[in-house]
Amino acid sequence: MYVNAKIVIIGSGISGVAAAHRLVDAGFRNVRIIEATARSGGRIKTGRLGDNIIEIGANWIHGPSEENPVFRLACKYGLLDPEALAPENQAIDCGGHPPFVPNTFCSSGRKLNAEDVHHAQEMFAELLVEGSTFATQGGEPLVSVGDFIRSAVLQRAAEKWKDIDATTRSLRLCMITSMLKLECCINGSHSMDEVGLGAYGLYKTLPGLDCTFPGGYEGLVKNVMSELPSGLVTYNQPVRCVHWNNTERRENPVMVECDEERIAAEHVIITVPLGYLKKHQSTLFDPPLPLHKLHSVQRLGFGTNNKILVEFDEPWWDADCESIYLVWEDEDGMVDQVTDVQRSWIRKLCAFTVLKPTERYGHVLCGWIAGHESEYMETLSEQDVTHTVTQLIRRFTGNPTITPKRILRSQWFHEPWTCGSYSYPAVGCSEQDLENMVEPLPMKGSQSQPLQVLFAGEATHPCYYSTVHGALLTGWREADRLISHYSSMSPSKSKL
Ligand SMILES: Cc1cc2nc3c(=O)[nH]c(=O)nc-3n(C[C@H](O)[C@H](O)[C@H](O)COP(=O)(O)OP(=O)(O)OC[C@H]3O[C@@H](n4cnc5c(N)ncnc54)[C@H](O)[C@@H]3O)c2cc1C
Repeated sequence: MYVNAKIVIIGSGISGVAAAHRLVDAGFRNVRIIEATARSGGRIKTGRLGDNIIEIGANWIHGPSEENPVFRLACKYGLLDPEALAPENQAIDCGGHPPFVPNTFCSSGRKLNAEDVHHAQEMFAELLVEGSTFATQGGEPLVSVGDFIRSAVLQRAAEKWKDIDATTRSLRLCMITSMLKLECCINGSHSMDEVGLGAYGLYKTLPGLDCTFPGGYEGLVKNVMSELPSGLVTYNQPVRCVHWNNTERRENPVMVECDEERIAAEHVIITVPLGYLKKHQSTLFDPPLPLHKLHSVQRLGFGTNNKILVEFDEPWWDADCESIYLVWEDEDGMVDQVTDVQRSWIRKLCAFTVLKPTERYGHVLCGWIAGHESEYMETLSEQDVTHTVTQLIRRFTGNPTITPKRILRSQWFHEPWTCGSYSYPAVGCSEQDLENMVEPLPMKGSQSQPLQVLFAGEATHPCYYSTVHGALLTGWREADRLISHYSSMSPSKSKL
């Protein structure tokens, strides 16, 4: 099949690249991607810290197994280590929370042992599973995941921890606070009080123990791009406005307005991040988005999760340690947000991932910090961040000599074409909001030319939002929508 219809894809992240690949493969000859920045990949962004390849954006393939299209592509292109390919690795089902070997430190400079941590961890894990059942069963007792966890912990602690001393009990509650902060990083939310309990369980996980790309996540994008005609992407060309439903131009009812070009098109696939859409929807569409779609854009959550990568000459963690958790001993209120952000933003940095294997990375930690505290951190100089992180580590280890060698942090909130990290179902959201996000324009029943504006990108996936595989699948979904539209047309109409 050869199709000449003009298709413009806005954004060259994985969803845009995947959509283009599918269309070109199906015989569409007039496909362009318009990208605001100088590179493809969007939130897949590989960088360097000294000699090390590090990820500034996406880190893992979540659920690397046959059902995961990112895993399948990574296998096809030979991008993974042998362990990730092992059937045993693919069979592990950890429900989105891989069992990393932990080291836990607390604010008085003590290292906790596994027994100290176990009870709080077990209760928290149970509650996350319970919290995700309301999406299918309804009847959620409270509006947010944060409220649910707090109230359930208090109730269960009164029964299960009634015989323990006050200090141990308080420490366990401090651990729950720390786990809530980490959950903010995983969800990309400021606080778990902003994540809707009713929709929390919409997110689905795949089997497989999360794995990384030894040569960098961007290798995935580069390999897919290498199969596209050269010159298909126009870089440094931000789209300012999508004029759609132009009834005078039946052939190409959409006009994509950029700073230096106006591009007539029959179909446009929008893949810009939800953060960008929230901020710019009023000027990005002419006519504006229909109200129900606009309200879903506003209702869905999009927050910030940043990384602070820190390199050391020597490790100060155990050889088998995969994750480091920090517990503040004065935080037993299970409040996952900081009151005085400017003074205490660092309290939100709750965990580090140890980059493995050591032979590849040396001694590098990836710190995680979400929310407004993370957005504030972005405004500080690298020197300030280094100083504060150093103080934090010295305090929690009780070792005043530890000094990082290098540091690099991401700044996703201030990235003008992203405006944050990823989406989550906020309080008040339902499945309907995700369906509204996906719906092409004009809406069903309209007399106008169909499928003028289509929507892809991670925030439009009904259950894999916030992930690379979710984003990739949405690109394929919208390409398939156009492919089946043209396949079902008579040859004369389809411009074959
Ligand atoms: C810190 C961090 C860690 C993450 N970790 C993981 C992980 O471990 N595993 C995982 O699966 N996912 C992870 N993710 C999420 C994952 O990176 C995203 O879900 C995925 O990359 C999104 O792809 P996308 O194509 O939807 O959007 P993007 O990659 O954001 O692509 C959108 C593109 O649109 C462009 N654009 C925006 N506005 C315009 C405009 N007006 N005109 C033209 N172009 C425009 C942008 O520049 C961008 O290139 C992480 C994300 C972050 C930020």
